[in-house]
Amino acid sequence: MIVQIHDKSFELLIAENTIIEQIECISAKIYLEYGDKRPLFIGVLNGSFVFAAELFKNLEIEAEITFVRVKSYESTQSLGKVTEVLGLTENIENRDIIIVEDIVDTGLTIKEIISFLQQKSPKSIKIATLLFKPKALKTDISPDYIGFEIEPKFVVGYGLDYDGLGRNLRGIYVLKE
Ligand code: 5GP
Repeated sequence: MIVQIHDKSFELLIAENTIIEQIECISAKIYLEYGDKRPLFIGVLNGSFVFAAELFKNLEIEAEITFVRVKSYESTQSLGKVTEVLGLTENIENRDIIIVEDIVDTGLTIKEIISFLQQKSPKSIKIATLLFKPKALKTDISPDYIGFEIEPKFVVGYGLDYDGLGRNLRGIYVLKE
């Protein structure tokens, strides 16, 4: 299945039902590990909102969710720079935090977010990411919950965009070479 976004063609990489099954598995793991800890999920906007919603609604434990925003990526090239994490109003001191990311590529964004959060003395921080590109990783971080490991190619859909479009695609689509 091929979709056209702006000037580029993308083909289906991961179908919606496969994504949903995998997210259910992640929710089940979190359920077992966080039963009575009332974790605070911190979704990273914009890309994580679809994954965060699916993950969160599957969880039958007491949990909270909030969202932050960082500016680190434009078009198909990572700028690799995060200067600010915006929008965190909760006190996270002594809280168990699960960062929810759409994708970990170089890992620079998540590393910046972790160091920002660590200054606020949480009890623990774990990372849940829908997609992980291990071959693109340039930092020493390792996500705790991973939906899918993928090749270092540009993807859209399920919350991820290409210049603003494609977030509402139900599957994950990869740029056609
Ligand atoms: P990193 O800092 O790990 O290199 O990049 C993380 C951010 O870059 C993600 O949160 C996402 O916004 C963006 N990004 C990285 N790879 C892709 C990709 O293949 N597709 C899209 N749409 N965004 C990506």
